[in-house]
Amino acid sequence: LLKDPVDRIIYIKGARHPSIPLPCDLYQPERLNSRGVHMDDAGTLDALMSRMNQPIDLIAPQQISTDTLSAMIANAQKAFVPWSRMSVDNRAAILEIWADLLEEQRETALQILVKEANKNIFDAINEVREAVDFCRYYAAQAREQMQDIILPGPTGEQNILRMDARGIWAAIAPWNFPLAIFMGQIAAALVTGNGVIAKPAPQTPIIGKFAVDLAYQAGVPKDVLQFANGGADLGKALVEDARINGVVFTGSVPTARHIARSLLIDDNRPLVPLIAETGGLNAMIVDSTALPEQVVRDVIISGFQSAGQRCSALRLLAVQDDIYDNLVEMLCGAMDSLNICMPDRADCDVGPVIDKASYDKLMGYLETQKNNIIKSANVPKNGLFVPPTLIAIDKVSDLQTEWFGPIIHIVKWRRGGMDALIAQINNSGFGLTMGVHSRIARVTQRVEAQARVGNLYVNRSIIGAVVGSQPFGGEGHSGTGPKAGGPHYLSRFCVERTISTDT
Ligand code: GLU
Repeated sequence: LLKDPVDRIIYIKGARHPSIPLPCDLYQPERLNSRGVHMDDAGTLDALMSRMNQPIDLIAPQQISTDTLSAMIANAQKAFVPWSRMSVDNRAAILEIWADLLEEQRETALQILVKEANKNIFDAINEVREAVDFCRYYAAQAREQMQDIILPGPTGEQNILRMDARGIWAAIAPWNFPLAIFMGQIAAALVTGNGVIAKPAPQTPIIGKFAVDLAYQAGVPKDVLQFANGGADLGKALVEDARINGVVFTGSVPTARHIARSLLIDDNRPLVPLIAETGGLNAMIVDSTALPEQVVRDVIISGFQSAGQRCSALRLLAVQDDIYDNLVEMLCGAMDSLNICMPDRADCDVGPVIDKASYDKLMGYLETQKNNIIKSANVPKNGLFVPPTLIAIDKVSDLQTEWFGPIIHIVKWRRGGMDALIAQINNSGFGLTMGVHSRIARVTQRVEAQARVGNLYVNRSIIGAVVGSQPFGGEGHSGTGPKAGGPHYLSRFCVERTISTDT
C-alpha cells in the first residue's frame, strides 16, 4: 500500500503526481531552476540509495548559551534595518536562490533527513520538495503583496496602505518536518523584511544548520538569520526576550500555551503576534457507501505514513456499523503488508519513531490498551519501532490525547448518527484535519458545513498538504489560524501602515 514502486519513482523523477499539482511546476514550468539545474537530474532511486549508504558527517552543531543568544538578538536588530529596506524583489530573489541551492544539494539533504530524522526516502523527498515550494511560493506572494496599495480618499489627500516588517522573529520548528517547516517559517519572515532567530528542534539540529548555511550561500546576511541551537531553556529565553517582535512556532499545544503566556509577562513589552501550529485529534468519517479499497488505502496512508508522526495524521477512524467488520478485516490485511524496517531501505513503509522518549511514551500507552487492540503489526525486534496499531474505542470522547505515532483508534457509528458524530469530533476542541469518505454528495456536504477544522479532505487521505494548493493550519487547540503555504500567511509577519498625505 505504501510501497508502490511506481509511485516512488514518479516522485523521485519530480513528475506531477496524478492527484497533486505541484507549486514548483506552477512557478517553473520547465523545471529548470534559475541556475539552470533540472530537478529531474538530481538522481534516480538507485543513485539516491547508493548515496544513502555513503558515510556522512552527522556532527551536531554546538548548543548556544543564553548570553550568546542575547548578543545574537542585538546583532539581528542592527542587521534588520538594511534588510527591511532592501527591495522585496531582492529578498524574493534570495529566497529563490535558496530553493535552487537546496535542489542542487538535494541528495545531501535527503541523506541527513533519513539519518537524523528517521525519515524514509519517500517522506524525505517530499519534504525537500515542500521546502523548495515554500521558498518559491512565498517569494512570489511577497512580490505581489508587499506593494503599496493606493486607497480612495477625500479630494486633496493621497492614502497609501503599506506592509512593513515587524522586526526580529523567533522561528521555532518541530522535529517532524525539520527542513520544510523550519525553512517555511524562516522564508516567510525573511521575505517580508524581518530578521530571524531560528531554533531547530533539539532532535534535528543538523538538517537545520544545513538549511541555514545554504541560506547564507544564497545571500542572506549572517546577522539577519541566526541559528540558535539549544533545548527548552534556550527556547524559553528566546520567547521571553522583549526584543523579539513575533513568534512562529510549530509543536505541542502545551508549549504553544507556554509561549503565549510568556509573551504577556512583561508589561513593558509591545504586544506581539504568535503564529502557532500545534496538534490534532484528526478524524475520518466513513459511511457505508464509501469505496472500501480506497478507504483502506487512505486510512493506511493517513495513519501510518511517516510512522504517524504528522500533526495532520489520522487518530480517529469513525466507521458506519454495517461496513465496520469488513473494513476492519481489510485494514488488518493491509497492516500485515506494511514493510516496517530501517528508513534507509528503498522499500521502507514505516520506520522507527524519532527517539526513545517518544517510543517509551507510545509503547506505554499501547500497554494500557492491550484489551482494546484489534491489530498490531509485526515490527523488527531491535530499534525504536512502534507497531502500527488499530485500537477499538466505544465512543469518540474516549480519545482525549494526541498519541504522536502510528496508532489509529476506531469507533462505530450508526445510521442517523452523523450530525451527533461530527459534533462529538468538534467537541475535542482540536481543529486541524478531518476526512470524509462517502459516495453521497449530501453526506460530504454535511460534513463540510459542520466540521470545524482547518483542512477537510473528501474521499482522499488527510495528510500531505501541498504548498499553494492546500494552505495548512488549524483552529481551536490546533493553532492560531494563519495557514502555511496560503495567500494570507505573509501578512501575519507584517505590520500595516497607512500614510495619508495632503496633496
Ligand atoms: N503539512 C503536513 C501535512 O499536511 C503536516 C505538518 C505537520 O505535521 O506539522 O501532512
